[in-house]
Amino acid sequence: MSYVREFKFCPQCSAKLTNTQVEGKVRKACPACHYIHWGEYSVGVGGVLLQGDRGLLVQRAHNPGKGRWTIPGGYVEQDEKIEDAIVREFLEETGLQTDPVSVLAVKDRPVDVPGVKHDIYIVFLLNYLKGELTPDPREVSQAGFYTPEECQGLNVAPLSLHLMTKALELKRTGKVKPGFVRLDGIKILGALSELYTLP
Ligand SMILES: [Zn+2]
Repeated sequence: MSYVREFKFCPQCSAKLTNTQVEGKVRKACPACHYIHWGEYSVGVGGVLLQGDRGLLVQRAHNPGKGRWTIPGGYVEQDEKIEDAIVREFLEETGLQTDPVSVLAVKDRPVDVPGVKHDIYIVFLLNYLKGELTPDPREVSQAGFYTPEECQGLNVAPLSLHLMTKALELKRTGKVKPGFVRLDGIKILGALSELYTLP
């Protein structure tokens, strides 16, 4: 059983897609312009910001997950770097300007129900730069810094709690840049490309 959505027409030229064997699988492909439908993917970013022995959480104002507390974050635009996306989303949701430190975690969620995108979620550790905590009421009903113990009474998403707890543990060990860091000065194909590697 395939969970990939069966598109009928080419999104580039509107010709009828045909079932074509491409790289070991039958895929919808366009005989006119050679578009291949590989599937649907979305990339999300999240940010962990620590203050002392606490981490920043926001309470979602809308569904999905209304009332739930999570680390701030959102989706990456097609032409946007993941670092720019987390800085933008973090500022929008909390009013705080931050600077990405390292990639703490990657979550992978392939499609297991029809009509959903394969979702990849990349979590950054952030440094505070400036700004006052002013949650955006369109997205967030409350925001605040909490210890993992204080989270026990809140409806916190387990992944957010895990990542925040882990980041606090790493901070206590004195690790300044836990995880993958952006390596500057290396040539990679694509003007917007960035490489993240162990420090
Ligand atoms: Zn086409």
